[in-house]
Amino acid sequence: MPALTRAVNGHTPANGRPMSLTDVEEIFGQNTFGLAEMKSRLPKAVYKKLTATIEDGEPFDATVADAVALAMKEWAVERGATHYTHWFQPLTGRTAEKHDSFITPNAGGGAVAEFSGKNLIQGEPDASSFPGGGLRATFEARGYTAYDPTSPAFLVEHNGSATLCIPTGFASWTGEALDHKIPLLRSMEALNKQARRALAVLGDEVGRVTATCGSEQEYFLVDEGFFEDRPDLLVAGRTLVGAAPPRGQEFDDHYFGSIPDRIMAYMNAVETELYQLGVPVATRHNEVAPGQYEFAPIFENANVAADHQQVVMMVLQRTAKRFGLACLLHEKPFAGVNGSGKHVNWSMSTDTGVNLLEPGDTPHSNLRFLFFCAAVVQAVHTHQDLLRASIATAANDHRLGAGEAPPAILSIFLGDQLSDVFEQITASGTATESKPSGLLGLGSPVLPTLPRHAGDRNRTSPFAFTGNKFEFRAVGSSQSVSFPLAVLNTITAEAIDDLATKLEARLGRKRSKKAVEAAVQEVIADSICEHTKIVFNGDGYSDEWTREAVEDRGLLNLKTTPDALATLTGAKNVSMFERYDVLSEAELESRRDILLEQYVLTLNVEAATTESMARTLILPAAIRTLVELGEAAEAVEDLGLDTSGTQEMAAAVVEHVNALQKAAGSLAAARAAAHHADDESRAMTDRVIPAMATVRQACDALEKLVPADLWPLPTYREMLFSGK
Ligand code: ADP
Ligand code: MG
Repeated sequence: MPALTRAVNGHTPANGRPMSLTDVEEIFGQNTFGLAEMKSRLPKAVYKKLTATIEDGEPFDATVADAVALAMKEWAVERGATHYTHWFQPLTGRTAEKHDSFITPNAGGGAVAEFSGKNLIQGEPDASSFPGGGLRATFEARGYTAYDPTSPAFLVEHNGSATLCIPTGFASWTGEALDHKIPLLRSMEALNKQARRALAVLGDEVGRVTATCGSEQEYFLVDEGFFEDRPDLLVAGRTLVGAAPPRGQEFDDHYFGSIPDRIMAYMNAVETELYQLGVPVATRHNEVAPGQYEFAPIFENANVAADHQQVVMMVLQRTAKRFGLACLLHEKPFAGVNGSGKHVNWSMSTDTGVNLLEPGDTPHSNLRFLFFCAAVVQAVHTHQDLLRASIATAANDHRLGAGEAPPAILSIFLGDQLSDVFEQITASGTATESKPSGLLGLGSPVLPTLPRHAGDRNRTSPFAFTGNKFEFRAVGSSQSVSFPLAVLNTITAEAIDDLATKLEARLGRKRSKKAVEAAVQEVIADSICEHTKIVFNGDGYSDEWTREAVEDRGLLNLKTTPDALATLTGAKNVSMFERYDVLSEAELESRRDILLEQYVLTLNVEAATTESMARTLILPAAIRTLVELGEAAEAVEDLGLDTSGTQEMAAAVVEHVNALQKAAGSLAAARAAAHHADDESRAMTDRVIPAMATVRQACDALEKLVPADLWPLPTYREMLFSGK
């Protein structure tokens, strides 16, 4: 293996002609069966019934299924589809698809393309190979997928053929949710109900309130050649060993830097496919770490956004292969280098297009905004544990609290202007003014005066108000956004319910504008006083904050996945999810069990891979180094020269070889002990993770001593900097 210039795949950018704006208009959504296609292909009455479900949330009318199926099939077959699949999100966090052919043999010995309403609305994949978390014994294999008309079906093209993907929910034979979509849809309904009810009291009758989401996706790109040469990247998605390069991200020169040609061509290809699939990606840029990038979409209805988010991950990974790249979605692919997150931007919007979290210029007098904002603050404070649990994975534990991502402690950044309004309310019960946002002069007459936002940004906050939406920043880059969204919707629905109930109680029969305003002020003030502890605008990375949060404010610091998941099925959470018909106790328990199981499985794979890399790659390289040094020492001695330098080198290598041999043994023992422990997940946290760290330390020390041409793995320097 050549040492310093390992083969770099597909170095030249593919022949990408940059897209023009007209191309985008032409191709946007062309691979989706969206409203326009439906309108042109469906009988008017059918179209009307279908849009009543899609746009107004009316119950799905099964009598239209045959007509919809026929139109959908014709559309798909015209575009070359040979198969269809019920596309769903099992609790692995990925998507699953089982392809069925449209072709059915007929009596005459030929074949016809068949796809009925029944095929559209219901599928029956064998559920036994998907995690069920105790909801289903292995022998009860039956599971159903159910058509979600509110998320457009789409075509995925591959090498000349195409598959029609139909977004569906996935449930057990007994009707329990085995997926991420069903609870998300249920939670959106809960939020809709409570928000409409509150709006009605506030004097605003609306038809529907929808949760909205735009989630930013961070990811790394490395050359595929390096990826294939790293067993850890291949099976665990992250490097388990690897010394820090002499140059990392300390120059701060990557963020928003100019995008290299090869990467730009890749991004163009990704965007083209996403546009065709109707995913509205809007921005692209370099992220903080070398080799790290980001895509962000325009926000959509949360259910569609969650599906699109899965599509984004799929397209990012598939396209990378075409460019000889590997796309790493893992939360922490490289130790010591910034990890990747998925900022989930979230708000609530009415069917008349009003964003309920839009403060306007004078938030202090915008009671509707203050009401909904206070509800979110109350929700996050009351359910810190649930939000933390919704993002708990072995991978995300590396980011949270690592001084680069938000800490595991949940807090809310409100910014100057809003915090000031909240402080006025806690001090005197009402707010009478809003700090002006103002203008920013730049000192040169040729530069324009800029309108300045009323609040600055704060990158260290896990949950930040950013102008007219909240941004949940602690979500992991590889996870589905559905569960965090379902939690957000449900806890907010509960807080709105609580505030609306108090409001109604105060008002009695009175509904005059004045009476409502006074009552809203009182209700909001009480809530804010009680929950303002969760608001924190300072540096979330500091040790002082950890102390203050836990000791002075009583906030939770759930550092690890087992800590976080232990709270999931607490009494308060079970009763809330049941009250709003989002998850039954059994469904919630199954989620906890599956998440814990995945935690254990992940760490098991990591531990086994770490041990095997140490024993079969790194120790042998170090031993070869010793053989070389031994021969060198002999030669030096034969020449009658001083062997001390050679001996010192050998001594250093031997020291780490011995340490590594021992550490690999301890890791194997820790893993075996964990397997027999009463609580395997905690044993993983307490014993296996530290044992892996000890192995890594010795490996990384050897990487700095073993000759480059003997080192068996692509290094951080190569992976982060070469081939871009
Ligand atoms: P910022 O300047 O805070 O990064 P952007 O306007 O760039 O804000 O938006 C960041 C992300 O937030 C985008 O994905 C965007 O679509 C999303 N977003 C904006 N408004 C909303 C909203 N009302 N609800 C949900 N997401 C939103
Ligand atoms: Mg952002």
